[in-house]
Amino acid sequence: MAKFNQPLGGNEMPRFGGPATFMRLPTQPDAGGLDVAFIGIPMDHGTSNRSGTRLGPRQIRDESRMLRPYNMATGAAPFDHLQVADIGDVPINTFDLKKTVDIITDYYDGILAQGAIPLTMGGDHTLTWPILRAIRKKHGPVALIHIDAHADINDTMFGEKVAHGCPFRRAWEDGCLINDKVFQIGLRGTGYAAEDFNWARDKGWTVVQAEACWHRSLVPLLDKVRRVIGDAPVYLTYDIDSLDPAFAPGTGTVEPGGLSTWQAFEIIRGAAGLNLVGGDLVEVSPPYDPSGNTALIGANLLYEMLCALPGVPRPDRVDPVF
Ligand code: MN
Ligand code: MN
Repeated sequence: MAKFNQPLGGNEMPRFGGPATFMRLPTQPDAGGLDVAFIGIPMDHGTSNRSGTRLGPRQIRDESRMLRPYNMATGAAPFDHLQVADIGDVPINTFDLKKTVDIITDYYDGILAQGAIPLTMGGDHTLTWPILRAIRKKHGPVALIHIDAHADINDTMFGEKVAHGCPFRRAWEDGCLINDKVFQIGLRGTGYAAEDFNWARDKGWTVVQAEACWHRSLVPLLDKVRRVIGDAPVYLTYDIDSLDPAFAPGTGTVEPGGLSTWQAFEIIRGAAGLNLVGGDLVEVSPPYDPSGNTALIGANLLYEMLCALPGVPRPDRVDPVF
């Protein structure tokens, strides 16, 4: 008998059956007794271009049925060490974005009070700001690893302060971030002015544009990230549009020239050893993801976040054989 919740295995129930929870884990109504809670935030009323991320949590859960419990690359066996469940979705107000961000903060106050680390399935990127507000109340300002094609630091969009292009400006205003420990990785595309990325640099954040990542391993970058962040609490937010659309076309705000899936693995695996206090995977838009591959990659990246959390030993590394 296992000590902790286990994902339902493919030899116990066919992969296309069973509960539609993340990795077919048990579900429960709140985060009581959990080390880690998977939560969905089914929203897309913060998006600026193509919508559809309201369906992201369901599709990520569905595609997560392929995931097995043991990480062949890192040796992580998270379900041997952490109590994990899928606690369902945040009951957002789909007619009111401003009410929605307050609902999210209240909801995460509850999860954090119960001592669980939240791993969130989005939903559009607006949701990270209200989560960071709750995180700040519990942990104080945090370091941030933000992987995205976009900086998401607009002051306003269409005159509005709450939108998926504004969360890190709002988080900065609210004192949620340790400015010299913020890393934005994968930024690219067309802009309005150089200021679009330089605002962050002026605040002391490290901006790693996508072109600096081309043709390279990101292991050395993450070595630096870990050195700079040290023991500080850190939040990891992964916008699926950081990936090149050749890998992850199923999203609303597509920019070519992005990261590869193996670079995404290097980033998240490279965050192991940090004091991770939460993470999210946002902007999967199932209507633009007919193959399901974008959601499947999203599910895998959430699993990698789970494997990178404190309390999960990582006994093995793949030895380079050439
Ligand atoms: Mn984003
Ligand atoms: Mn983006």
